[in-house]
Amino acid sequence: MLESELPTPCYLIDQTKLKQNLTILEDLRRRSGIKILFAQKAFSSFPFYQMISRYLDGAAATSCYEAELAHLFLKGENHVCQTVYEPQEMETLCAICDHIVFNSPTQLAKYGPQARANGCEVGLRINPEYRSQKFDDYDPCAPFSRLGTTLSNFSSADRSLISGLHVHALFEQNAGALEHLVDAVIEKFGDYLPSLSWINLGGGHHITREGYQFERLEACCKKLQDQYGLTVYLEPGEAIVWEAGYFITTVLDIVENGMPIAILDASAVCHAPDITELQYRPPLIGGGAPNELPYTFRLGGRTCLPEDIFGDYSFDHPLEIGERLVFRDMAINTLTKANMYTGIAMPSVAVRAVDNSCRVLRTFSFEDYRNRF
Ligand SMILES: *Cc1c(COP(=O)(O)O)cnc(C)c1O
Repeated sequence: MLESELPTPCYLIDQTKLKQNLTILEDLRRRSGIKILFAQKAFSSFPFYQMISRYLDGAAATSCYEAELAHLFLKGENHVCQTVYEPQEMETLCAICDHIVFNSPTQLAKYGPQARANGCEVGLRINPEYRSQKFDDYDPCAPFSRLGTTLSNFSSADRSLISGLHVHALFEQNAGALEHLVDAVIEKFGDYLPSLSWINLGGGHHITREGYQFERLEACCKKLQDQYGLTVYLEPGEAIVWEAGYFITTVLDIVENGMPIAILDASAVCHAPDITELQYRPPLIGGGAPNELPYTFRLGGRTCLPEDIFGDYSFDHPLEIGERLVFRDMAINTLTKANMYTGIAMPSVAVRAVDNSCRVLRTFSFEDYRNRF
């Protein structure tokens, strides 16, 4: 069907853009020898896993369910890095993963031998205490962070159990931040690197964004490859689906209270929580910044929640009831974070194939809401 015939609200995944992103990553792998894994948390939509695995080395999970999903639907290596493990999970993960990363020396001591006995490569997540971000809340290296082992705690780790290190400390960053991160890792943990065989530099690399400085990324990975003989892994998530999704909505009502407010058939709180949680402002096709175009509207969600606002956007015409609005860059953290709070239905999920034809993959119903109990 045509995009204009899709039901709304609807998440639309664009296979052309997904393929472009994956091709950039595949080219990087080919020329640099860096191994690239798909970090699933931003986009755990398994119908696309087969396509993703054609371009990458495998998957990275931060939970047992993600690891199970990758095991079922994605070919290649299967890595997992959790803060803590429970005995049952460990049994499952030992059977389906080839790399298991622990967050602390105590977890390593508790489960490392079991992972090794099952033939898994074992790693320890480190915290190089390199601050790359302004916001403490989202920085794994902020003071008092529970994520990763600091150098002062590293001495208590049984290093005979590990063959690699894992570090994840970036968020939507260019290669300059990665250079600083690698410098911090070498400065603090450099003495231990020659005895290891791999290092995983986590996610947060904005690799598929225009202007990303590949030469700088490749140079600092080459240092780790050549000087220390390490296999270098990257596990980007967002970069794989960057700009590869749309969210299509319909204006159901227009009210006036100091400014015109369009009420959509969707919810920011339920369907794109990054908007209200992280102040994310999705680009909107035909929409500008407030007052940039002649008609500024507030776009509101359909729930009873006062905070359910997509944002203020301006248009070249007054919005009308029945009009469709299409947000861009809405594949990241949308379906994975979507919820049915206040009993709001889930959007449909559709795909736009490379020939531009669209197809609905999944719709949701009242049963999905009821079955959450
Ligand atoms: C979230 C996460 C990633 C992926 O980060 P992106 O910002 O999506 O690239 C990779 N590794 C770990 C451990 C993570 O928690």
